[in-house]
Amino acid sequence: MTQIKAFSAVNETAPLSAATIERRLPKDNDVSINIEYCGICHTDIHQVRNEWGGSIYPMVPGHEITGIVAEVGAKVTKFKVGDRVGVGCFVDSCRTCTECKDGLEQYCSNGLVLTYNSTEHDGTPTMGGYSEKIVVNEDYVLRIPANLPLDAAAPLLCAGITLYSPLRHWGTGRGKKVAIIGLGGLGHIGVKIAHAMGAEVTVLSQSLKKKEEGLKLGADHYYATSDPETFTELQGRFDLIINTVSAALDWNLYLNLLKRDGALVVVGIPDTNIPVNAFPLVMGRKSVAGSLIGGIKETQEMLDFCGAHNIACDIELIPIQKVNEAYERVLKSDVKFRFVIDMATLKA
Ligand code: NAP
Ligand code: ZN
Ligand code: ZN
Repeated sequence: MTQIKAFSAVNETAPLSAATIERRLPKDNDVSINIEYCGICHTDIHQVRNEWGGSIYPMVPGHEITGIVAEVGAKVTKFKVGDRVGVGCFVDSCRTCTECKDGLEQYCSNGLVLTYNSTEHDGTPTMGGYSEKIVVNEDYVLRIPANLPLDAAAPLLCAGITLYSPLRHWGTGRGKKVAIIGLGGLGHIGVKIAHAMGAEVTVLSQSLKKKEEGLKLGADHYYATSDPETFTELQGRFDLIINTVSAALDWNLYLNLLKRDGALVVVGIPDTNIPVNAFPLVMGRKSVAGSLIGGIKETQEMLDFCGAHNIACDIELIPIQKVNEAYERVLKSDVKFRFVIDMATLKA
C-alpha cells in the first residue's frame, strides 16, 4: 500500500477536506496513474450529500479523471509509463455477464465496481479522483487523444460519454432534430457532440441567460422553458430529447415536443418518480427511456470521436481548496460549464 493525498467527505453534511488515503501497489494487470485533473460532476454532489441513499464514508469523490501513467504491472500490455490516460465512472465489473460480454459494462448485472462510493471485488472501498494517484486494471483505463488537453478532456469521462451513448443509440445524425434539456456539464458537451454528429440541435434551458454561449457551442436554436410559448411553438418537433436535469419536470409537456416514434431519454437523475400520462405516449408511439454513462469500448470511441472533431469541454479550472465553493456554484447553475480540479494544488 502507498499513502497518498486526497480530499474526502467524512459524512453527508461535512464539507470536503484534506485527507490521507491508501492505494494498493499495482498488481500484474494494473496501471498506476498520477492524476492531473478531475472534473466535478453533479453526481459527486448527490453522492457526497447522500441524496440517493447508501453513501459510504469517508468518500473521495471524482470520476472524470485524467493523468499520466506512472507505473505498470508486469503483465500490462495496453499502456506504458508516460501515456496520457483517463478513468471514468467504473474501475471493474464482473466480465462474465451478458452486459460485460457485450461491452456494456455499465449495466453489469453481477456488481459494477464504481470509481468511488463502491467496493472492489475483494471488499476494499473504492476512492475516486480527488486524489494524487489511482491504481486501475488496464482493461478499465482509457486513452486520451494527443490533441485534447488533459484538463478540458477530463469531463468527457463522465459527461461526454453520458451524452454520446444515447445520441448514438438513438441514431443521431444529419436530418435528426435533437433537444437537450439543461445546459450544464452534461448538456454543454451534448450540444457539441450532437452538432458534430450532424444533428439540428436545440437547447431547452430555464432561461435565455446562456443563449449566446449555447449557440457558440453549436446549438441551432435556444429556448427558455420558463416561457409557456416554447411548448406551443416546439410541439411535435424532435426525434430525440435528452434530459440532463436532476430536478422534477413537467414530463408530459416535453413528451408533446416529440415527433412520432420520438424518445425522451432521461440521464439526469431526480430523486422523485417520473409521472407520465398514457395519452401523449400512445399518440405517436413515443417512448421514455433512460441511459447510464457508456461501456469501455464506447467510451474510447467517444474520446476518439472528440479527438477527431477537436471537441473538449468548456471548463473553469480550480484549486482543490475551492471544491466546496464550486459545489455551491454548481447547485446555482453558476458554471460555464464544468469545474475541473487542478490536482497539482493538492500538494499546496
Ligand atoms: P449540472 O452541471 O448541474 O447541470 C444540470 C443543468 O440542469 C443545469 O445547468 C441547469 O441548466 C438545469 N437545472 C438545474 N436545476 C434545474 C431545475 N430546478 N429545473 C430545471 N432545470 C434545472 O449537472 P450535470 O453534472 O450536468 O449532471 C446532471 C444530472 O445528470 C445529475 O443528476 C447527475 O447525477 C446526472 N448524471 C447522470 C449520468 C448518467 O449516466 N445517467 C451521468 C452523469 C451525471 P439550465 O441553467 O440550462 O436550465
Ligand atoms: Zn458523473
Ligand atoms: Zn458483468
